[in-house]
Amino acid sequence: MLPTSLKPFSYESFPQAGVVAYFSMEIAIDPAMPTYSGGLGVLAGDTLRSAADLGVPLVAFTLLHRKGYFQQHLDADGVQREDVQPWEPADFCAEEAARVTVSVEGRTVNVRAWRYDLVGRWGHVVPIYLLDTDLEGNSGWDRGLTDHLYGGDSNYRLEQEIVLGMGGVRMAKALGLVVNVFHMNEGHAALLTLALLERQLGGAPAGPPGESDVELVRQRCVFTTHTPVPAGHDRFSTEQAVRILGSERTARLEKLGCFREGMLNMTLLALRFSRFANAVAMKHAKVSREMFPQYPIDSITNGVHAPTWISDPVQQMLDKHIPAWRRDNLYLRNAIDLPFDEMLTAHARAKEALLAEVASRTGMVLNPRVLTLGFARRAATYKRAGLLLADPARLARIASAAGGLQIVYAGKAHPQDEPGKALIRSVVAKAGQLSNDMLRVVYLEDYNWNLGALLTSGVDVWVNTPRRPYEASGTSGMKAALNGVPSLSILDGWWIEGWMEGLTGWAIEDGADDAAEANSLYTKLESAVVPLFLDSPGKWAHLMRTTLAYNGSYFNTNRMVKQYSRNAYYPLKLVEQARVEEPAFDHQSA
Ligand SMILES: *Cc1c(COP(=O)(O)O)cnc(C)c1O
Repeated sequence: MLPTSLKPFSYESFPQAGVVAYFSMEIAIDPAMPTYSGGLGVLAGDTLRSAADLGVPLVAFTLLHRKGYFQQHLDADGVQREDVQPWEPADFCAEEAARVTVSVEGRTVNVRAWRYDLVGRWGHVVPIYLLDTDLEGNSGWDRGLTDHLYGGDSNYRLEQEIVLGMGGVRMAKALGLVVNVFHMNEGHAALLTLALLERQLGGAPAGPPGESDVELVRQRCVFTTHTPVPAGHDRFSTEQAVRILGSERTARLEKLGCFREGMLNMTLLALRFSRFANAVAMKHAKVSREMFPQYPIDSITNGVHAPTWISDPVQQMLDKHIPAWRRDNLYLRNAIDLPFDEMLTAHARAKEALLAEVASRTGMVLNPRVLTLGFARRAATYKRAGLLLADPARLARIASAAGGLQIVYAGKAHPQDEPGKALIRSVVAKAGQLSNDMLRVVYLEDYNWNLGALLTSGVDVWVNTPRRPYEASGTSGMKAALNGVPSLSILDGWWIEGWMEGLTGWAIEDGADDAAEANSLYTKLESAVVPLFLDSPGKWAHLMRTTLAYNGSYFNTNRMVKQYSRNAYYPLKLVEQARVEEPAFDHQSA
């Protein structure tokens, strides 16, 4: 037997010592629960699914989002209509008896929690607590605070962040959870640090807390930033902070250095109170350190939950040849040896499923033998959905040379994002103008989890054209890679790490402006993608294998959660410390 101090690390030694509490404004929990909008929520859900598979002692907090994000309808001109997505929490979750309160604009707001048990492949449960203010005793306004994900104005947002951060910390205690680590997934959850600080101070008089109090909170908190540009960070004016949080708390946050340019900056707050912070790709860490030079910012590159995003036919092929992939995604490296014909057949079946969905939604019958490109993500302008259609004449020539070309689009614009909505209208208009016998362009409405899975597994090439350096990571290209689908993308976010020219896809070369990058996109299509697609199925199958082997084995949340566990949650020195001293933190009164 090894002496205690040398005992190997194991997750199993932690449940009795407490859990990680993961806080995220959105979590994609189940395709039938509209509790997410896009990449951030899908990442959060994939993180929890992998934590459940790996047996990590972890619980999660989010808001209920009783009316969802929105269901998107597009008319013939691409004009977006937004419908609410009411859902029934009791159909999926169990109501907890515990109640806590938070203070919003001086009002006391009651909060309850609904528990969703996320069960991993081997039975480990990650409970997700969805906070809900729709309770008797709350005002009509306050009952709606947990209705709309990213709805309303910035006042509504700050009020929601109080419920998530401060309500979540109090709910964890009311539920009797012993929390070792609070993980803030993006700055939306940063107010949890304020609740922890107030608990630490107990009834201490107002005023600046001592560094030792701050340090005790810091030792419990880790933070993941997802935003590569200053304008993307959650910020609130002093007036809003004073009105909604109260003047005492606002003054405290100001003294602690959480304001920048006169605004309460949620990223700064989270950084100030975290012993570990990370960005979501190597490049994003570099960009983040430039924005916040006073803080060390590590990097843990995102991933996706492999069994959630690999199509059924590809999963069956992997089960046959590499069954160990399910317990450890690193074994996907052995995809390098998959039989070509099985790879092609599995992909053909996934493509059939996508084309059937396109036909049933639009009546458009696409050809399964024709090169098919996919582009689906939030219709934010920096993602430049129109870049692929920038030069219609050249695209038409490429389509003819390829013996046909099909492009499938999807994506929602945030209800208040007028430029994003204009982008959808322009892509839909161009799709109509450009489509002919050789080129078919279709925009599918209501991009969501299920459609995302069909698209990333069913197209032949996944395209991404963000304006650098706005793509912190991007994850849909990883979903494609896990299906053996190569990417044709701008070198930003994860693709800088995943790109191996001709082996995992192709890079669109950096250019001075949109026109230059569109030019490179077309050149790559003409000179690399189309020739390989037309050349031989064997060469394409080889590309699919290398894509799956190299990128599938790495860009998954199985690897990512192990990195969070050892680099963020329980680095070895904390493991050792925890053995010798039980921190006094949780024994303070709330
Ligand atoms: C994966 C996913 C995203 C994220 O896509 P990016 O390429 O990272 O922008 C957004 N929405 C849905 C529905 C997804 O499944």
